[in-house]
Amino acid sequence: VTAGPGCATLVLEGPGRLVAREMARPTVGDDDGLLRVEACGLCGTDHEQFAGILPAPVGVPGHETVGVIEALGPAAARRWGVAVGDRVALEVFQSCRRCAACTAGDYRRCERHGIGDMYGFIAADRAPGLWGGYARYQYLAPDSMVLGVPAGLDPVIATLFNPLGAGIRWGVQVPGTGPGDVVAVLGPGIRGLSVSAAVRSAGAGYVMVVGKGAGDTERLALAPRFGADLAVDAAADDPVKALVSGAGRLADVVVDVTARAPEALGQAVALARPGGTVVLAGTRGSDGTPGFHPDHVVYKELRLLGALGVDAPAYAAALDLLAADTFPFAELPRRTAPLEPAAVGGLLESMAGGAGDGSTRPVHGVIVPWT
Ligand SMILES: [Zn+2]
Ligand SMILES: [Zn+2]
Repeated sequence: VTAGPGCATLVLEGPGRLVAREMARPTVGDDDGLLRVEACGLCGTDHEQFAGILPAPVGVPGHETVGVIEALGPAAARRWGVAVGDRVALEVFQSCRRCAACTAGDYRRCERHGIGDMYGFIAADRAPGLWGGYARYQYLAPDSMVLGVPAGLDPVIATLFNPLGAGIRWGVQVPGTGPGDVVAVLGPGIRGLSVSAAVRSAGAGYVMVVGKGAGDTERLALAPRFGADLAVDAAADDPVKALVSGAGRLADVVVDVTARAPEALGQAVALARPGGTVVLAGTRGSDGTPGFHPDHVVYKELRLLGALGVDAPAYAAALDLLAADTFPFAELPRRTAPLEPAAVGGLLESMAGGAGDGSTRPVHGVIVPWT
């Protein structure tokens, strides 16, 4: 495949400044490829990047990409196990598949790539520039990792491979959640609902999802359909009392997926049973921890675990769970945007609750670049 017509993209040039930019279509060689982007999911990280809270180079954002392989070199086809025309989800991280970290399965700490080299966070001035999903085509570098999307799964729904993969890793794999466990989930957004569905699928005995305030009302109402036995508004009710009266005891596992909710850590510690596990998952964008007393961790002998990202096995499990259609992910309050700066910026603002136009806050936002 040689250079063809240009590729439409959105480039983030600075905080709040998304700009439409046409880039050259790259020539695909022996060991790389090109993805025709069908859908790119948006999450809280996208908003932090857009708003400048998360430092990012001038480049094409977007790290929850699903698309169809448009062009592929023979070596890449062998390495990735895919063919032109296959629908795939693109892993955020790249893996050299050779270094000590990659060989051990911890490819997110790959010596060649690692956290500074994730799709959606690479500078546009590094050729060929198409490093994110806010585009009609995304470049597949030789060290890419792609996951097959099950047949029949809508690409817009399939973008949930990212938050649901996180739910599986953070809610089940990291804490080792098993049958019968009492689980409390702090944060009722897409990540929290995904954790709820994941722990329910893993056999949790009782699941409580906690939100706070009017902005979370709609999300809390959804929680029972995503596996929760109880949804609690911490602004109105005490989650500890609610859990004890509902489950009969404190939580074996507490998963905190809140963002900018500094009091959540103290809450998480209060919800955990002695000897229980608290998972702090995803970046939270706050530094203070009011109400958190380290001695409570000591008295209760808690395990406090951090969880940053997701890995390929969790992504594959997420795609299978989406295809199984056990939970109504297809019916989530969702808004899509075309590949247009104002539309995407507006969607990001309303997902963060800052649109100020009275519009409802979608739980799932997706860019559909070919509309
Ligand atoms: Zn994301
Ligand atoms: Zn490596």
